[in-house]
Amino acid sequence: MHALVYTDTKKLIYREEKNPKLLNGESIIKVSASGICGSDMHAYHGHDNRRIPPLILGHEVSGVISKGKDIGKKVVLNPLITCGTCNYCKKEKEHLCPKRIILGMNRPIERQGGFAEYVSIPDKNIYELPKNLKMQEAPIAEPCAVALHAVELGENELSLQLKDSKALVIGAGAIGLLCGLILSKVKKCKEIVIIEPNDNRLKESLKYLDADGLKPNSKNIHRDHFDIVFDTVGLEVTRQQAIQSIKPGGIIIHIGLTQPSGNFDFRKTTLQEITFIGTYCYTNRDFEKTLNILNNKEIGALEWIEYRNLKEGASAFKEIHDGKCTSPKIILLI
Ligand SMILES: [Zn+2]
Ligand SMILES: [Zn+2]
Repeated sequence: MHALVYTDTKKLIYREEKNPKLLNGESIIKVSASGICGSDMHAYHGHDNRRIPPLILGHEVSGVISKGKDIGKKVVLNPLITCGTCNYCKKEKEHLCPKRIILGMNRPIERQGGFAEYVSIPDKNIYELPKNLKMQEAPIAEPCAVALHAVELGENELSLQLKDSKALVIGAGAIGLLCGLILSKVKKCKEIVIIEPNDNRLKESLKYLDADGLKPNSKNIHRDHFDIVFDTVGLEVTRQQAIQSIKPGGIIIHIGLTQPSGNFDFRKTTLQEITFIGTYCYTNRDFEKTLNILNNKEIGALEWIEYRNLKEGASAFKEIHDGKCTSPKIILLI
């Protein structure tokens, strides 16, 4: 099969690879579409010790079953593969399973990813493509589940309803935009501010989202103002922005993984009883809920997605790396 292989730091080659083998309890998917995620970019930059070259990246995948049960069925994949037997798995917190692995990773266990013509995956990770969701758009289900999980973690902790709260979203990448869309269109939150340094990207996101868009250095980002802040970037500077702008008693949802440590105002966190919640991935239920949200078109048209052919995947990665890409999401079509 053809695949886009990550061979070295900032290097991807479209080449011939071995087809995946069919294993017990699994199916082989003929991939139709595969999204480029921030974590794929992280690997591309050589910063991910779970994704070591040579490796086929990609975990946001839709396609058609070509071997296994239900051949010919159109599907979308939940790439988070878990043991199913530990306490986390049994209590619907599969995303915390100590044995979890994601498609497109090779440490501790190898799972080649979706930037290829074929990919293998356990049957329990396969979901039928919702009727109203286009095959090429379906990879968005995965980051959308990440955003839904983050928004609902915050919602559960808030002392007021989301629709009445002031929300700040830092970053207008895919997760930032999706958090904004869920806050606005699903949770009916009326006061949303989104912060993004890239002018074009900020403008683009505001076409789809009812929010105020601001640059990170804007004087209009009020201190001690927001009930809930989503840091979808995870830099020291964005965490500092989050802690400055959060209200006493407010909630910071930390999703970004860019910079693992740095200064943070623990004094305000303590004196103002700020709740700081780290969040990662989503549960199986979040994934199912997301498919429903997308099927019902609850977050609106997905016209902000851009498409490229898998063959041109290397240049798509470069475009994102160079900051030349306005769209928060590129999906590769196979
Ligand atoms: Zn992803
Ligand atoms: Zn488990």
